[in-house]
Amino acid sequence: MIPQIDVRNCVARKSYAGELEFSFAAEDELLDIPFVSFASPVTAHLRYEIFEDDAVEVKGTVSFTLRGECSRCLTETEETFSHEAEALFLPAEPLGEEYGYSGGVVDLKEFLRDTVAFALPARLLCETCKEE
Ligand SMILES: [Zn+2]
Repeated sequence: MIPQIDVRNCVARKSYAGELEFSFAAEDELLDIPFVSFASPVTAHLRYEIFEDDAVEVKGTVSFTLRGECSRCLTETEETFSHEAEALFLPAEPLGEEYGYSGGVVDLKEFLRDTVAFALPARLLCETCKEE
């Protein structure tokens, strides 16, 4: 389950920062390596901070494990990838690199999808092939 950040509620409670730890099912269609799939749900460990202008900064680490055939020798292999990501969510139309949010609630789905897509390797290599 991907949690949302209820900015209005946080501000009402004067709670301007927090941590989120959760896992969610990865979208298989993001993965473009033959005979490789996600071995487990993606895990995310994020910190958020709400600024005075209601902009919300989110940063943290997203990790996932891929399992399948080595792209070179076809041996069954597995590798865990971790990626640091950060984003700024604005309570208005997003500009360029930033995300927008509306109704006082930050939806992390698009950010997480982008982060996983960015973290995905072009191929999966087994230990032996990696050393060559
Ligand atoms: Zn290999």
